[in-house]
Amino acid sequence: MRYSGLRLFAEALRGNTGWKPAWRDPPPKRSYDVIIIGGGGHGLATAYYLAKEHGITNVAVLEKGPIGLGNTGRNTTIVRSNYMLPQNHFFYEKALSLWEGLEQDLNYNAMVSQRGVINLFHAEGTRNAAVRRGNAMRLDGIDADLLDKEQVRALCPLIDVDNGRFPVLGGLMQRRGGTARHDAVAWGFARAADQRGVDIIQHCEVTGIDVEGGRVTGVQTTRGPIKANKIGLAVAGNTSRLAQMAGIDVPIESHVLQAFVSEGVKPLVDQVITFGAGHFYISQSDKGGLVFGGGLDGWNTYAQRGNLPVVDHVWSAGIAMMPSLSRLRGLRQWGGVMDMSFDGSPIIGKTPIDGLYMTAGWCYGGFKATPGSGWCHAWTIANDAPHKLNEAYRLDRFRTGHLLDERGNGPYPWMQ
Ligand SMILES: Cc1cc2nc3c(=O)[nH]c(=O)nc-3n(C[C@H](O)[C@H](O)[C@H](O)COP(=O)(O)OP(=O)(O)OC[C@H]3O[C@@H](n4cnc5c(N)ncnc54)[C@H](O)[C@@H]3O)c2cc1C
Repeated sequence: MRYSGLRLFAEALRGNTGWKPAWRDPPPKRSYDVIIIGGGGHGLATAYYLAKEHGITNVAVLEKGPIGLGNTGRNTTIVRSNYMLPQNHFFYEKALSLWEGLEQDLNYNAMVSQRGVINLFHAEGTRNAAVRRGNAMRLDGIDADLLDKEQVRALCPLIDVDNGRFPVLGGLMQRRGGTARHDAVAWGFARAADQRGVDIIQHCEVTGIDVEGGRVTGVQTTRGPIKANKIGLAVAGNTSRLAQMAGIDVPIESHVLQAFVSEGVKPLVDQVITFGAGHFYISQSDKGGLVFGGGLDGWNTYAQRGNLPVVDHVWSAGIAMMPSLSRLRGLRQWGGVMDMSFDGSPIIGKTPIDGLYMTAGWCYGGFKATPGSGWCHAWTIANDAPHKLNEAYRLDRFRTGHLLDERGNGPYPWMQ
């Protein structure tokens, strides 16, 4: 079924009785050419691009719960490609270009909104860093604008640019950045993959990965064993657990990252804005809630929930930037389990086990990468080799020392 304005109109006339489920609910087959573990955005996008770009349709996505309820359905929906390192430039630009055509490609309203992303700076040192990053982006053809204080004030009058503690000197803006509706991204990829023959199997937890002679042969699941020639991991904060099922250790730690939404208000914040003097970023959802978040909890956990110290920390940072937030009521708070890599950059590629691939290590920033990650992961699985866009994201860089230290902090997870 194709979605269109005409279809909406016709369904309205006949009482919405003609809609069909957006994807099938098939039982698992005994074997597949490719199994993707994890029904978040990255796993579903991988399956979609395997079918669309490589004609590989005998594919199953195995998800332990309902699709899209992991980090994909928990993030703050920011999409951008404003990175500093060239290896990240070309990958994230590919992802952003896929976002720009995604709704037409999937025939699904993912509510992609290129409203602009502004990173504020508050000191000369951070202004220099922003200028350097903006110049690096522009040299590779990516849009970046340096804003002065008055331009920031004009774009977002709520920001207290003259505040005594953290005066705003300006911001680095990527106008093509913005937001997308996170659930719709999972649903859109699921529907489009299903239409090309992919089996999306929910409530099917993978409990073991079968390896014989250094090569994967299938998986053990809560719905029985399933054979496969190739397996792709797209399980975010559970990556180290799943990799250990195949006997490999990966340099990924799991931490909770929390987010918040306020009560709905009239349009107040037109862009995505990040505070440069503390952990805080904010945008406004189409329902009117202000959506915001901060930094990681500083310990390892698999708990997908929030806690009070972070409420205090994040709201304090937000109020320092936009004092009027103090008069808003918080509506909800939640957490997702992040897959933190040791250099802050992702892993998309082969593993030491033949036929086992992974997309992981997305840290805070994997939502924006969703279509690019799926595209590159699918390429790598289909060709048994990385595409040049994800060549630098290989797992063995942690052994060879070719780290991608995007933030220049050093490869220490505790500094991210
Ligand atoms: C609060 C918060 C805010 C964020 N904000 C942003 C943002 O603004 N912009 C941005 O770019 N990124 C953001 N991120 C990061 C982003 O959400 C993630 O990097 C991205 O969504 C990861 O997608 P995924 O498909 O890899 O993971 P997930 O959506 O978590 O999917 C993994 C799936 O694997 C399944 N799974 C796990 N184990 C098994 C198993 N054994 N068997 C079967 N299935 C299994 C899980 O149930 C889950 O559905 C944020 C994250 C959080 C938590």
